[in-house]
Amino acid sequence: MMVGSMLIRGGRVIDPKNGVDMVADVLVENGKIAKIEENISAEGMQVIEAAGRVVAPGFIDMHCHLRDPGQEYKEDLISGTKAAARGGFTGVCCMPNTHPVNDNAAVTRYILEKAQWQGSGVHVYPVGAISKGLEGKEMAEIGRMKQAGIIAISDDGRPVANSNLLRLAMQYADYFNVFVMSHSEDKNLVGDGVMNEGFISTKLGLPGITRAAEEVMIARDILVAEAEGKRIHLCHVSTKGGVQLVREAKKRGVRVTAETTPHYIGATDEWVIGYDSNCRVNPPLREESDRQACIAGLVDGTLDCIATDHAPHHQDEKKVEFHIAASGISGFETAFCVSYTELVRAGHMTLPQLIEKMSTKPAQLLGVPGGELTVGAAADIVILDPEKEITVDAEKFVSRGHNTPFHGRTYYGAVLATIVGGRVIDQQY
Ligand SMILES: [Zn+2]
Repeated sequence: MMVGSMLIRGGRVIDPKNGVDMVADVLVENGKIAKIEENISAEGMQVIEAAGRVVAPGFIDMHCHLRDPGQEYKEDLISGTKAAARGGFTGVCCMPNTHPVNDNAAVTRYILEKAQWQGSGVHVYPVGAISKGLEGKEMAEIGRMKQAGIIAISDDGRPVANSNLLRLAMQYADYFNVFVMSHSEDKNLVGDGVMNEGFISTKLGLPGITRAAEEVMIARDILVAEAEGKRIHLCHVSTKGGVQLVREAKKRGVRVTAETTPHYIGATDEWVIGYDSNCRVNPPLREESDRQACIAGLVDGTLDCIATDHAPHHQDEKKVEFHIAASGISGFETAFCVSYTELVRAGHMTLPQLIEKMSTKPAQLLGVPGGELTVGAAADIVILDPEKEITVDAEKFVSRGHNTPFHGRTYYGAVLATIVGGRVIDQQY
């Protein structure tokens, strides 16, 4: 039996890139897709039975926080990549707001080496900082980080308040063949807000965050990208107005792409009633009309992809009053079931379209392998049971972060196995 070889038998093979949606066997040899046909001989092969299941390219997450180096009590490259594998991800981009910040080649190399030697096998693509120490002042060493292996640059967690620094970042990024991922937020407009500003924040007596805090920066980001003719990717779009700004910008040819997350299509500010601090996230959970707008944005292509913004925290930072709780949701292990239930079962899109949003499109935007089941491509594969019912149990998360507002809720869509380079790195059946 060859290493990295197997036969995945009888599943519904979905590959949006090649327009494939058929029941077939997938032959993997030497870590690569060798053949997709009916009735391939299984002689001498390791066989994975996939009848009644879906075989698709593994998910690729453009936006997560693995907390390593420096905050290993929240997550590290081992637990984080294991959690990603459990969620069906074969590649993830980790944001630079670690301690120390990933603003130099030494940290980039540390992340890549630890992921390679101790990680679950999931590909890790580090995002480098735009500014040194995420301080928004001096540009980080983008060229050196690119040499060391970063895929993009971002000050995520913080906005780039200085528009000229953003402009320079886009120019440097273009020169070094990376791109800017923007955390679009006006901190002055956020003020001391802790949740979406609206009826619910008033009712709960919690300080609100106006949608404008996100939208003025989305508008700014788009206008700077437009003026420069450069590329920009907008992180975690959560508002109706934000989606509309992206839609209009795309229409006039701005090189803008954007993501939203499972929690903006799967939860609203009404979930904050009861003051569950697991609902605290940045940007905040919005209203139903925003949730619908994010769904519509995904459906019409305004929003290119779904990213998790996986943000694990220790319970000491979460099991406190709402207004002092850390912001973020541990998202790897619920990304598929929440997205599948809210988008596919709810009738907004087909399963192949969802796989495109979680796999094919992010691979394309990042320019990384995966996101396809083309013969000769890397065998980075997820096996799914979409109709399996799941009640989310945060205590069973592989991630060190158990912070999720989805705990105890029931969804459809199980991830059964994650395969990277023809090797099963996580299996649930
Ligand atoms: Zn962010």
